[in-house]
Amino acid sequence: MSNYHIKGLEEYFQVYRKSVQQPEQFWAEIAEENFVWRKRWDQVLQWDFHKPEIQWFQGAQLNITENCLDRHLYALGDTTAIIFEPNDPSEPAQHITYKELHSRVCKMSNVLKDQGIQRGDRVCVYLPMIPDLAVTMLACARIGAVHSVVFAGFSSTALQTRINDASCKMVITSDGSYRGTKSIDLKGILDEALKETPSIESVLVVKRTGTEVKMKENRDHWLEPLLEKASDHCPIEMMEAEDPLFILYTSGSTGKPKGMLHTTAGYMVYSAYTFKNVFQYQQPDVYWCSADIGWITGHSYIVYGPLLNGATSLMFEGVPQYPHWGRFWEVIDKHKVNQFYTAPTSIRALAKENLSHVEKYDLSSLKILGTVGEPINEEAWHWYNDNIGKKNCPIVDSWFQTENGGIMISPIPFATPTIPTFATLPLPGIQPALMNKDGEELKGNQVSGFLCMKFPWPGIARSIYGDHDRFKETYFTAFPGTYFTGDGALRDATGYYRITGRVDDVIIVSGHNLGTAPIEDAINEHPAVAESAIVGYPHDIKGNSLYGYVILKETGEDRNHDNLRNEINQLISERIGAIAKMEKIQFTSGLPKTRSGKIMRRILRKIASGEMDELGDISTLLNPEVVQEIIDTRL
Ligand code: ATP
Ligand code: MG
Repeated sequence: MSNYHIKGLEEYFQVYRKSVQQPEQFWAEIAEENFVWRKRWDQVLQWDFHKPEIQWFQGAQLNITENCLDRHLYALGDTTAIIFEPNDPSEPAQHITYKELHSRVCKMSNVLKDQGIQRGDRVCVYLPMIPDLAVTMLACARIGAVHSVVFAGFSSTALQTRINDASCKMVITSDGSYRGTKSIDLKGILDEALKETPSIESVLVVKRTGTEVKMKENRDHWLEPLLEKASDHCPIEMMEAEDPLFILYTSGSTGKPKGMLHTTAGYMVYSAYTFKNVFQYQQPDVYWCSADIGWITGHSYIVYGPLLNGATSLMFEGVPQYPHWGRFWEVIDKHKVNQFYTAPTSIRALAKENLSHVEKYDLSSLKILGTVGEPINEEAWHWYNDNIGKKNCPIVDSWFQTENGGIMISPIPFATPTIPTFATLPLPGIQPALMNKDGEELKGNQVSGFLCMKFPWPGIARSIYGDHDRFKETYFTAFPGTYFTGDGALRDATGYYRITGRVDDVIIVSGHNLGTAPIEDAINEHPAVAESAIVGYPHDIKGNSLYGYVILKETGEDRNHDNLRNEINQLISERIGAIAKMEKIQFTSGLPKTRSGKIMRRILRKIASGEMDELGDISTLLNPEVVQEIIDTRL
């Protein structure tokens, strides 16, 4: 039996038991057997969730890029590390081998050093989904600089806030980025952001679109000529286990962004371990995660997790609908993808389109499908299972957060039986607890409550950059002695977990706690419904009532809205109970979403309550224009 690679349900239970009974020994064995260390640790774990303080593999020395790159050179040097599939399908794909990636990372590391970047400096990476993004992250890690990747869809204000929050010394960007038919002026957005960023000393610019850009003398440099001159030899910087590896902001679009601080050794062990098990990766599989590297999913499951396992990871620059709605399936067919990992929001968007977009392509290479980011509703799950997996690929509904570093609750394919809407079981090392509002743990099964973690795992963030008090306040105060996720969950009779949504979104109607996910799931079962979001709003008698926003499928037929409302409520009554029926149902063409594609119920709640003047800044939304439409057609 291997702790590192679980292959069946029996084995999972055995490994899980061990991980709880002897957590330190469990992680020490995994760390020892699967990674290169320059110096062994003195202590596996030291922790206190009250302070909070968490240290893994204290005293160890290593470099994560030696584990991602150097150690693979002998056996996998000519194996493809990254397949780059450009936005435009007529541009050739690139296959970057481990040897080439190593050489590119070393060159980039030398450029960063020449530009004055030293160990501990923060480097902002504002790049589209091109190989230079992964190369830059790894180059930072190689020389001990801390990368802070900011999603390249963020506006100049959002970028500026993040640069200043981490007082970054340098930014790496590109002249522009391609997204479908659009070309975005990234350098222009950056220039706007850099009007008030006192810590920035230099800017490196990758050429991608050939757009004309302004270069500020003594500050801005084209990257290419610098790389040409740089040596492809760069020794690793010897890092301590708890040295910062990166800062990454959570995807929420309001308030002061939370810059989660992740450190070296624990993150390495955890991202690698979870990648191996959740995707059952084996060379020569081709693995594709369609997330953006600007989110934790991309950090852990496009870059670090796959490379740590010597995998072939596909990086896609484009969008699902360009040049046609079959683009994802075309990419899977073209590169014979074996594991495909995406978000429910993409699945729902793709499921709205005609199936002919799917049927044109050969998807028989697929073995495992994954989703992450939001609860996946049953209908979307079945669409994915039937049409993409052809009922032959386990679907891993993986739950985790930026704060966690890696997947926490998820089926292990071919081991854990899957059920739609259930993230199923905790991965080894993860000890969830459901709490009631009085802070008591709800033992046993068939309970639902606030989802907390009782014990640290190696990938947990160590702090919010520059604000440890906020870290404590946000995650370690509501339920002292545990890490509080902010999500609600239920544990069914068999011990499976279902994430019911964010607890901020929980609605109390006539004294009953209602999670958003199960109700939206029921609404989405209606054949005419494409997507929905529900929120609570004040009601004289019930305390709160439910307000639903529903997007209908485009069928061309004119449906009677009142009949639809009745049918939807009927479905909710059957599935959940009359208590969860909507007081109001508004039909809309879109829902406000974060840049990572998650529904922003906060804004919908304000509109439902008639507090339209308290929406806050909506410019950071993916689709701010939809807000006015929703206000105008409010019931
Ligand atoms: P912020 O914390 O700033 O509001 P965010 O929570 O959206 O942003 P992430 O860390 O990217 O930022 O997302 C984690 C959250 O996404 C989880 O807390 C959960 O609410 C949701 N989530 C992720 N995966 C799943 C899943 N498989 N099922 C249900 N919910 C999920
Ligand atoms: Mg969050």
